[in-house]
Amino acid sequence: MIASRDKLIWKENSAKLFTVKSAYQVALKLKEKNRVEHSRAITDRALWKKIWTLKTPPKVEMFVWRACSNILPTRENLHGRKMKIDPQCEICCQKHESIGHLLWECPLARNVWALCRGKIQKFSNAEQDFFALFRMMANRLTQMELDKWATRSWALWNARNKFYFEQVQQHPKAILEGAIGYLKEYQRLCAIMGNH
Ligand SMILES: [Zn+2]
Repeated sequence: MIASRDKLIWKENSAKLFTVKSAYQVALKLKEKNRVEHSRAITDRALWKKIWTLKTPPKVEMFVWRACSNILPTRENLHGRKMKIDPQCEICCQKHESIGHLLWECPLARNVWALCRGKIQKFSNAEQDFFALFRMMANRLTQMELDKWATRSWALWNARNKFYFEQVQQHPKAILEGAIGYLKEYQRLCAIMGNH
């Protein structure tokens, strides 16, 4: 026997003694933990799959997937890759430019979302991780509302790029209407193709 073995402490019950009952409780806890993690993985998997069932142009789906994966070249992400880039959002100069900030919390995004009627108005304005934001939208919006939200988010990203690279400031209304027009046209074409 190894001497140190005697010093092993069973931490899971107050007497610090191993008992079958406490072992059983630990096993139950582990089982429960696995169950929670597993069901989380299943719902996450379903959520990731949901991206590809959006009825939006493929480039919007791809954009949502990249945003959820946090691989868009925002200032925060570029800064995180040790590039000499200020992580600050240039639009509001108030916060780091993360995807959640840019597409949801930044005043530019707020101005666009403020023009949308419906449930979106009732959601918290605070920055969220984009995947968490997608989860919230997917849980609470109808398919059509979700398609619109995704396309508007994509339009916001384009407006951000226009601002950074072309020094063009798009009006929130133009961003919104451009997105809706694009989505409608795509869905119209899909309907025509589907009818043939
Ligand atoms: Zn900002």
